[in-house]
Amino acid sequence: MLNIVLFGPPGAGKGTQSENIIKKYGLVHLSTGDIFRYNIKNSTPLGNLAKSYTDKGDLVPDEVTIRLLESEVNKHAQAKGFIFDGFPRTSAQAEALDLFLESKGTAITMMVALEVPEKELIKRLVGRGKESGRADDQDESIIHNRIKEYNQKTAPLKEFYSNQNKFRGIDGIGTIEEIFSRICNEVGN
Ligand code: AMP
Repeated sequence: MLNIVLFGPPGAGKGTQSENIIKKYGLVHLSTGDIFRYNIKNSTPLGNLAKSYTDKGDLVPDEVTIRLLESEVNKHAQAKGFIFDGFPRTSAQAEALDLFLESKGTAITMMVALEVPEKELIKRLVGRGKESGRADDQDESIIHNRIKEYNQKTAPLKEFYSNQNKFRGIDGIGTIEEIFSRICNEVGN
């Protein structure tokens, strides 16, 4: 199986590049952020719980997010592989994912990390907020909090995957096609 963790701060272009990766490699796309937004829109119990965190730009608690991710993976028994977009975001999530995949006889192949300077991220997120209407892109203080959560809790995962020799840093500045071609150079053809 080809299992990719797509990594990077909010606004790095994970959603956009996921679409390209799924098409080329035939992977199942799992975005915890998309799943939370779907549940929030439909006012499910999970959505109501998640909303109290996503509204502030805080991370949803690990046990909720891990359970959700595992149940989504289990829905795709025939998958050729997965692209994990926005998961894991904490060390506890990364450790849980390793154990879970091991129990299924597979593992993470690599972490593809989109690298974009903070100033550029804020510019992109403010722009996206104007176009998409995404609640957590509307307010600059929420954007700052999401970047702070990323720096404190998620950025350390670089080391987690580097220690396993699975970290691949990608320059996230350029056109969508340029960045995608850098990703393909790492993933292979
Ligand atoms: P995203 O679309 O990946 O930027 O996620 C939007 C929001 O959903 C985040 O700001 C978090 O509140 C929540 N979220 C998404 N994925 C996770 C995760 N793996 N762990 C905790 N919270 C998450």
